Amino acid sequence: MRARDEITRSQSDSPTGEALGRVKSANSLRGRGEGEGPPLSKMAACDVLALGAHPDDVELGCGGTLAFLARRHRVGILDLTAGELATRGTPERRAREAADAAGALGVAWRACLSLPDGALRGDDEAQAAAVVAALRATTPRVLLLPHADDPHPDHAAAAALARRAAFLAGVARWHAESGAPHRPRLLLAYPGPRQLLRPDLAVDVTATYGAKRAALAAYASQFSPAEGAATHLSTAYYMAAVEGRDRAVGNTIACELGEGFMALGPLPGGELAWLLARSDA
Ligand SMILES: [Zn+2]
Repeated sequence: MRARDEITRSQSDSPTGEALGRVKSANSLRGRGEGEGPPLSKMAACDVLALGAHPDDVELGCGGTLAFLARRHRVGILDLTAGELATRGTPERRAREAADAAGALGVAWRACLSLPDGALRGDDEAQAAAVVAALRATTPRVLLLPHADDPHPDHAAAAALARRAAFLAGVARWHAESGAPHRPRLLLAYPGPRQLLRPDLAVDVTATYGAKRAALAAYASQFSPAEGAATHLSTAYYMAAVEGRDRAVGNTIACELGEGFMALGPLPGGELAWLLARSDA
């Protein structure tokens, strides 16, 4: 499918390949050799960028919204790591599952920065530079990012990295070599799978929840009880809890299924209106 095609495409054939090359170089400096981890996809300009620490994070937190937004905007997904520390699944398999999940959601592309799983740091210069390069290369108007209070340390670090990078990407002289300055106009934080937030914004995802279920089902290595050692993630009640949370959020806005987001400051009304406008309006 399209997303898998893009995730296996050479980075050298894209205008953003240069930025990706710098990211790869940054990884190599940290002891990751060339060719390790999943292949990088072709990043491209997008309207909305959803950023997560691991493959499956954005699906769990806001997959229904991504499918909703993909019907009216160009949506990209950026995984900071390949999830190589996971109890089950290899990075290669997780990359294939992530590509399939992206196809289920209908987003334009998905890429992985191959930063080190388990060692994301919000104050790391090279990691921030990698995220800044990605933001400048893809110029998203809206950035969806993890919530800072997520108990998973990688998720919290990804939240800090994303927020820092979203600001620094607009500072022209900060790593000027990585591209023209760009700053997303709207940042929204989605909840981690173990977080119960009182959202500032709730999106009705009833119509696209099937795509979220299909995307999560693509991650058999993580969520299927038949795939190996039992983990919390592979229990039926884990996925039921995710959907239960989404049902509870939906109930707050009088619909069946919803996804909640937290504001990182005053929400710019015009940007929200643009983001959620019906494509047939
Ligand atoms: Zn995660």
